Amino acid sequence: MAKFLEYQGKEWLAKGGMPVPKGRVASSPEEAEEAARWIGGPVAVKGQVQAGGRGKAGIVKLADTPEEARALAEEILAKTVKGLPVEKVLIEEKLDIKKEYYCSFVINNAREARCPMLMFSTEGGMDIESVDESLLFRLNIDPQYGLQSYDAIDVCTQAGIAPADLSKFASFLTKLSKLYKKYDCQTLEINPFVMTGDGSLYCADCKMEIDNSAVFRHPDFGIKIARDLPGQPTDLDVIGWGIEETDARGTGFLMNMGYDEVSPGYVGYHPIGGGSAMMGLDALNAVGLKAANYADTSGNPVAAKIYRVAKATLSQPNIEGYLLGGFMMANQEQWHHAHALVKVLREMLPKKPGFPCVLLLCGNREDESLEILRTGLADMMTPDGIGRRIEIYGREHVTDTKFIGERLLALCKEYSAEKTSQKAG
Ligand code: GDP
Ligand code: MN
Repeated sequence: MAKFLEYQGKEWLAKGGMPVPKGRVASSPEEAEEAARWIGGPVAVKGQVQAGGRGKAGIVKLADTPEEARALAEEILAKTVKGLPVEKVLIEEKLDIKKEYYCSFVINNAREARCPMLMFSTEGGMDIESVDESLLFRLNIDPQYGLQSYDAIDVCTQAGIAPADLSKFASFLTKLSKLYKKYDCQTLEINPFVMTGDGSLYCADCKMEIDNSAVFRHPDFGIKIARDLPGQPTDLDVIGWGIEETDARGTGFLMNMGYDEVSPGYVGYHPIGGGSAMMGLDALNAVGLKAANYADTSGNPVAAKIYRVAKATLSQPNIEGYLLGGFMMANQEQWHHAHALVKVLREMLPKKPGFPCVLLLCGNREDESLEILRTGLADMMTPDGIGRRIEIYGREHVTDTKFIGERLLALCKEYSAEKTSQKAG
């Protein structure tokens, strides 16, 4: 799912007419101080990462002065939460919170429902899984007509909202429900939304996730990749998404794995299918090699798609080898992989003579596939040919992660020694 950070979600909520605290995002302590000055008065400083439980993680804090906001921003921007660096903080007017509530709109996938569903609770602010079931109220929403005021009032009444506040809550929830639909959300969770001292309701937090299949309808969102990503998309992520987005024939997944181009030991990683990918990582981990990227060409993709994934994988700068990890007896016809790899390696290896490539391909049409690889690459695989470090394996090594890892490592060592001696000579 394409997820928004809190500040982005709140921007869209505000544009849709929802009450959101006055705020501004900042990327540095200086910007944070400036934002706090612009707001005037006490502020909340909130680290922006794609993770819940930020309060507990110590990246939601309150400041009385702009100077204090600056210091807190500095502290929060230096943190990493659940592996994600905090790159931005949201500076918001501090709310005078009287009570915190929970609401979310999600898709109810139950067979008899298959519709959006509202969840509402008066126990806001905490992890919703820890709220007692009896205090969480659910309502399926007719996708045709949307959330009706009388239904919202009904839910709020059950939850114990005071009669005088019912129309205020119903109006808040129905407005939110319209935005849920308008923005094609998969999830829209406001935890907490709060009532302030003067009785107003505000969205104090926002988790907005857009349905991947609908991202194209919202160019304004500026979502480059309609897929769940841990952080900002890298160039490889964008290339990978371009392959997937334009060709629906099988999977051609490709994404960055936190590849750091300067440190040694990274290889281009091209597993076939999820199970295979795990075994391939075992193979690499066992010998101390690292995957620069994650890929997956399964679901019987055509050779053209596999070719694009393999080419992008092999084009990563400074990788030391390439692993085609078909550690499973695939049901797809593997000769598409064989054709794709012959074309890619014939194009790429003249630029990287002697580059290590271990190709493991098993499963349907295996014999034909290995034959395509061997004959297609034969002239390059001579002892001093540009493909001299290509090794091709089939079913006899289908689960042999240790062997495959060791072969790749041995080739990588040879290659790096060769490069060093070339430089010296
Ligand atoms: P989460 O922990 O990642 O869900 O982050 P939230 O945005 O939900 O913030 C956690 C808690 O911080 C909320 O439940 C509030 O109690 C508190 N909080 C967040 N924003 C404000 C604010 O503007 N004013 C006050 N007083 N408390 C806030
Ligand atoms: Mn929250």
